[in-house]
Amino acid sequence: MAYQRPKGTADILPGESEKWQYVEQTARDVFKAYQFKEIRTPMFENFDVFSRSVGDTSDIVTKEMYDFFDKGDRHIVLRPEGTAGVVRAYVENKLYGPEHQKPVKVYYMGPMFRYERPQSGRMREFHQLGVEAFGSESPAIDVETIAMALQLLKQFGLKDLKLVINTLGDLETRQAYRQALIDFLEPHFAELSADSKERLHKNPLRVLDSKDKHDQEIVKDAPSILDYLDETSTAHFTTVKQMLESLGIDYEIDANMVRGLDYYNHTIFEIMSNSKAFGGNYMTVCAGGRYNGLVSELGGPDAPGFGFGLGVERLLLIMAADEVPLPVDDQLDVYLVGIGAAAAPATLKLIQAIRGAGFSAERDYLDRKPKAQFKTANRLNAKVVITVGDSELAAKAANLKNMATGEETTVPFTEIESDFKAIFKTAVK
Ligand code: ATP
Ligand code: MG
Repeated sequence: MAYQRPKGTADILPGESEKWQYVEQTARDVFKAYQFKEIRTPMFENFDVFSRSVGDTSDIVTKEMYDFFDKGDRHIVLRPEGTAGVVRAYVENKLYGPEHQKPVKVYYMGPMFRYERPQSGRMREFHQLGVEAFGSESPAIDVETIAMALQLLKQFGLKDLKLVINTLGDLETRQAYRQALIDFLEPHFAELSADSKERLHKNPLRVLDSKDKHDQEIVKDAPSILDYLDETSTAHFTTVKQMLESLGIDYEIDANMVRGLDYYNHTIFEIMSNSKAFGGNYMTVCAGGRYNGLVSELGGPDAPGFGFGLGVERLLLIMAADEVPLPVDDQLDVYLVGIGAAAAPATLKLIQAIRGAGFSAERDYLDRKPKAQFKTANRLNAKVVITVGDSELAAKAANLKNMATGEETTVPFTEIESDFKAIFKTAVK
């Protein structure tokens, strides 16, 4: 084929796009219940927004970014994730100001771009639903936001979900732990992967997140960050655990979980699914955590934050594999059958009146015989078929058939044009 979509991208075709709309609408409803409001930020940002926040030793920044210099020689990145841009917007638009109710709670949905090796559930253009809450250090924000993510996934019919949490503590905690980790890893230096060697001194916590099998063996025995938590960090984490328990939310703690983005501290979490979509392996669908230093890192005040990102492609893969039924409305209100060339002006006026009254309506544009038109009406699941032929033209009244009951009536053209709502209501009881 001459033209193909770029590797790692997908066309979302009619039939599939309804599922996306359903997912997006459901998310909007759940976000509304928790009072998150939509924010829309640019699909591309200046390079520094990501190198500063996501971290310049993260996989995302070192390997996965679609970045380029534009015609004005600006270093631009197609956003690989949503948080950095939202934080940039929060700071730039001073959403921390006194006129904004705290915490400021926003959500976003849209495409993200990462230069990755495409495979099932891993695309170069993919979509995330995400939320961010700024301005509160309360562990209740952590817990309610995690609970919201779980509620959303349950609403989508997902079963067998696993919530994994960890804490990265505050700055003091991480400094103490960092040294302990370096001390542990240094004797293994020669065995580490090239990436991990590079990260050992720049950002040793990254080594815990290595995808390299041998690195993973080594870090199994690494010291646990949980042994380095200072008092405040312990208190925060303890409260988070208690609140989760009081809501009856099961969780596991993985002390080696650090997440792929550098901006997190305190609570981090992943929601994983072992759906058959992933061959029974656990795959992360939703991930996030607290990032108390990120706003100031991007030039704002010392405002804390908490958020998550949820991968829509992975969600839809699970829903398909688990055969979760989607309430997709594919019924057509009206199919208008026009018979003969003489009917054309009337069909045009009638169908436009019906659509103008707010009903879905379809007709024939290929001069097909009445029989073929009726067949189409059936295929499109029409509730009502309206027919206009020579006799209807003479009577200035159309034949209307309720396709469920077979009941037929005659309705004047003028009534269709002036008040189709009333006609439809009488016809489809
Ligand atoms: P992974 O370890 O699977 O690479 P990640 O740590 O890079 O995930 P995040 O940056 O936390 O993932 O993104 C949050 C969610 O976005 C993931 O849990 C996943 O559902 C989705 N996601 C991330 N990268 C991709 C991708 N390349 N294609 C499709 N979905 C993705
Ligand atoms: Mg990744």
